[in-house]
Amino acid sequence: MLDALKSVLRKTSIHVCLVNTGGCNGCDIEVLALLSPRYDLEQYGIYVHQNPREADVILVTGAVTEQWRDKLQRIHRKAPEPKIVVALGNCPISGDVFNQEGGSVYAPVSDFIPVDAEVPGCPPRPSEILEAILAVAPGAIAERGRKK
Ligand code: SF4
Repeated sequence: MLDALKSVLRKTSIHVCLVNTGGCNGCDIEVLALLSPRYDLEQYGIYVHQNPREADVILVTGAVTEQWRDKLQRIHRKAPEPKIVVALGNCPISGDVFNQEGGSVYAPVSDFIPVDAEVPGCPPRPSEILEAILAVAPGAIAERGRKK
């Protein structure tokens, strides 16, 4: 009974896996703000967690440190198709303040995994993050439906 209910709800919800590849946590805090009553992300059927095996969308923050290069690709492989990736904030797009001469960050994240959408900003506003997720979510649901 519970499995059947989970299956029905799963078809219409979007699961977002948040991955911080080495940033200041500013972007992650803005994602957490989306869970507050002001934005109430879950009213859209969008759930944020850190489980790539259940993810429809991988939300990447951070500038991709040495430790995260391989780990990020492993996480990306674990996610089921379609793997929609959103680069959140300036860090995964350009490295921003962490991209220094002689430094050890490897942005852009698109050098390691394919990126479907970018949300620039340091950090982006919660409303901009929400808009980006809502923009890619219908595509994820439609693609999932085609594979059934
Ligand atoms: S984009 Fe700005 S707020 Fe976001 S992780 Fe990088 S430095 Fe921090």
